[in-house]
Amino acid sequence: MTNNEKSRILYDRALNVIPGGVNSPVRACKSVGTKPVFINRAEGCMIFDEDGNGYIDYIGSWGPMILGHRHPAVVEALSSVLKKGTSFGAPTELEIKLAEMLISAVPSMDMVRMVNSGTEATMSAIRLARGFTKRDTIIKFDGCYHGHADALLVEAGSGVATLSIPGSPGVPKTFVAHTLSLPYNDIDRVSEVMKTQGEKIACIIVEPVAGNMGLVTPANGFLQSLRELTDKSGSLLIFDEVMTGFRVSYGGAQAIYGISPDLTCLGKIIGGGLPVGAYGGRRDIMEHIAPQGPVYQAGTLSGNPLAMAAGIATLTQLNASGFYEALDEKTERLMVGLKGASEKAGINVKLTRAGSMLGLFFTDKEVMNFEDAKTSDLKMFSDYYKGMLQEGIYLAPSQFEALFVSAAHDTAHIDKTIQAAEKVMKRLIK
Ligand SMILES: *Cc1c(COP(=O)(O)O)cnc(C)c1O
Repeated sequence: MTNNEKSRILYDRALNVIPGGVNSPVRACKSVGTKPVFINRAEGCMIFDEDGNGYIDYIGSWGPMILGHRHPAVVEALSSVLKKGTSFGAPTELEIKLAEMLISAVPSMDMVRMVNSGTEATMSAIRLARGFTKRDTIIKFDGCYHGHADALLVEAGSGVATLSIPGSPGVPKTFVAHTLSLPYNDIDRVSEVMKTQGEKIACIIVEPVAGNMGLVTPANGFLQSLRELTDKSGSLLIFDEVMTGFRVSYGGAQAIYGISPDLTCLGKIIGGGLPVGAYGGRRDIMEHIAPQGPVYQAGTLSGNPLAMAAGIATLTQLNASGFYEALDEKTERLMVGLKGASEKAGINVKLTRAGSMLGLFFTDKEVMNFEDAKTSDLKMFSDYYKGMLQEGIYLAPSQFEALFVSAAHDTAHIDKTIQAAEKVMKRLIK
């Protein structure tokens, strides 16, 4: 048994002053029936709690830490900015540099606006889509998570799914009256809705690879159909690549599937571990944003020099040749190993992978949408989670989150993880 004494004391203190003791719901580990460990530091692919326990980290701050923790290039970039100041609220060259890097990586983007989180990116992209098309209704998909803006908290993934909340109190019915949520990968349903209501639809927003209901990949032709249907009705197609951007490839999911969305939302990796988001796309659309156009959006700390520098340093590393091939290879090794572990234990799992993102569902059903994901045995998942934590493997405490491999994981870490899974899965009650 690992000792968690200090974490327990900190958790009690936190509960008194922070709702649920955490600043983002899934961190509380409620759905898996445990208490959170409090983190002291991290290095490479290892994360250490306050009691000194070390874990191999597969959360990676929920996606951003693709280089691992404290990558020397990122630390150095941050140190050099610190000498000059931490925030100016005025334009800097760093902002242009990161914008240029994003635009050259993601060809569908002609211009980009920096914000401070993925939530802000999607919220602003939707406002822009509505302002540009002069239409109100938006389409999203069940189990996709696009941050916590009011209009998007309908059948959402991530923490909303983990806690089984269909929507959220505090969101007036009228605020979500213009949000339609459809099953992921169900192109017939989208066609049907677009046929009757296409002229009212401002945009379709989608995770091109869904990573917030576990990992669900797009069915053949799904994204292409969304592109065709939105083109036909004059609606915009928004790819929420906050998670997949610079994760599944340097150009995101759109580069892999060969689809050009009108707008793209980014976050997570582009901040290299600092709080960042961005939204960008076609020039004629982006020119509608204030002060160039009438659609208002602003931010005191937007384009923050520390965040820009961490982003630039991170993207520079990612752009090295062979980076994604090596990462994908390690992730494939992990997937094959986990599959083998489940077979040895005689339990049904379905594994999914997109680049260095993995999904492991305790179900025998092919997982194509949120309904399928929900057929997972959540009791078995929570036993698996707890067992793996005891073995020093730090997984997301929810069936409805993806697993991330970083460049700092080496083959030994992967193999150690597979051995732990073999041990833990054997003990799972069927
Ligand atoms: C994480 C995430 C968001 C929200 O980003 P925050 O920075 O947590 O606000 C939005 N969309 C997707 C696809 C995400 O994975």
